[in-house]
Amino acid sequence: MKYIDPHIHMVSRLTDDYERMAHAGCVAMSEPAFWAGFDRGSADGFRDYFRQLTEVEPKRAAQYAIQHFCWLCINAKEAENVELSRDVIKMIPEFLDKPNVLGIGEIGLNKNTPNEATVFCEHLELAAQHDELILIHTPHLEDKYKGTRMILDMLKNESRIKPERVLVDHAEEHTIQLILDAGFWCGMTLYPITKCTPQRAADMIEKYGTERLCANSAGDWGPSQPMAVPQLILEMKLRGHDEATISKIVYENPKAFFGQCKRAQEAIAAL
Ligand SMILES: [Zn+2]
Repeated sequence: MKYIDPHIHMVSRLTDDYERMAHAGCVAMSEPAFWAGFDRGSADGFRDYFRQLTEVEPKRAAQYAIQHFCWLCINAKEAENVELSRDVIKMIPEFLDKPNVLGIGEIGLNKNTPNEATVFCEHLELAAQHDELILIHTPHLEDKYKGTRMILDMLKNESRIKPERVLVDHAEEHTIQLILDAGFWCGMTLYPITKCTPQRAADMIEKYGTERLCANSAGDWGPSQPMAVPQLILEMKLRGHDEATISKIVYENPKAFFGQCKRAQEAIAAL
């Protein structure tokens, strides 16, 4: 079955992972800008990272007939440094005409600090000015509920940003309803051990339906599973869901959300 992984950090993965994903039916992926496994010391470090996301990874993916898209920002983990964050935000427009850029992300909160909130709002301003789609990272574990509420409030305060142009990621049982009720797209991130498993994601799909709901692997530097979306496909098949329902979650929905990005519309329509 064709699928899209809408959130995976391929810079941290082996070329073999591209190959395995292609064999499992992956036709496209999107890679949000994130932490690189270490804190970067300057805006120039991010400039090189953005070149990697917009020039290098699309070529690696193309070797396996996978379309690679990306999102640009300074992530919440490094946003505690407001001065560095502002330098990075100022530089992002240099890359906004690259054909594989879908928008601004993954912005959000990590420890829900005032500095993180400041940098989050400055990213919203950038997205509003350039009419960009947004991908949101919500905090993990005990900070998730409060952080998700803070993020939704900041988004609602920015009237230029339409909810249907925002995907709020890493949703779990206690945050999914908040996100969907506010009109945003919602992502469930599948992890092998902790957090949301394919089984829990399938339970949420059965409870909340398939509208505006996506699933991703978030494969990154930590313990994670780039094959998590195919695992969800299998879990749903075993539960008796039909192809159309499964395809809506793993292919149609991310395609529809990405398709709002004018720059990438042609490439997305061809998937
Ligand atoms: Zn991520």
